[in-house]
Amino acid sequence: MHETDILGIRINNMGMDEAFGETVKLLKKGSPAIVFTPNSEIIYMAKNDEEFRNVLNSSDINTADGIGVIYASRLLKDPIPERVPGYDLACRLISYMNENKSSLFLFGGKPGVAETAAEKISAEYPDINICGTQNGYFDSSGEIIAKINAADPDFVFVCLGAPKQEKWMFEHKDELNLKVMLGLGGSLDVFAGNVKRAPKFFIKLNIEWFYRLITNPSRIGRMMALPKFGFAVLKYKFKKKGKKDEQG
Ligand code: UDP
Repeated sequence: MHETDILGIRINNMGMDEAFGETVKLLKKGSPAIVFTPNSEIIYMAKNDEEFRNVLNSSDINTADGIGVIYASRLLKDPIPERVPGYDLACRLISYMNENKSSLFLFGGKPGVAETAAEKISAEYPDINICGTQNGYFDSSGEIIAKINAADPDFVFVCLGAPKQEKWMFEHKDELNLKVMLGLGGSLDVFAGNVKRAPKFFIKLNIEWFYRLITNPSRIGRMMALPKFGFAVLKYKFKKKGKKDEQG
């Protein structure tokens, strides 16, 4: 799998079809695998946090979630073909799970959110076995690990927001009985119907971030990471170019 280095984070250079196919391969392998879906905000967060960088680079797949990551890859002259948003990958996998009668554990969100998401998913995809739910507000992980292990799921959607979800998956990978876990941020809120996905118009124009900003202006602080991310990528590009020139 070709990888693109963005600010020291390894992003798999692939579109949705390939990301879906590779995730299904991980399922078939059977040992616990991790898929992260970093956007530019997450990559920028990891820029000055070596521990988080190592966590992100330890996954089996990192998809390019967001147009910022795509622009960065173009700027670094190693273009990634398209966005692979975590929520969209989750939707593809849900169809697969329904066809294959797979089991799914939903972990994250405020109390009740995972249960509502489970009801909505089951109503539309009755052949998925939703084998457990767990909210994302907890003091210790022991009981949650035991609950997931008793359910022995094919897939776990871990939706605790970044960097909590990535760090949790990294820390507990070896204690968990499951096939594939994916870090999917606020996706359970969308599956539960509490947060609306942007209308197609915004998605098509790659300005979903703008829809999220106008519908939730409190995200402005987080969005300020975007221009900083852009500058950091430019700096990274010139630093890399300088090193290459030095070498020969
Ligand atoms: N969340 C959680 N536990 C926490 C903090 C957050 O389960 O300790 C959930 C929160 O309820 C929300 C999700 O994590 O459902 C984070 O959503 P956000 O929109 O911030 O994530 P993004 O998709 O932007 O990464």
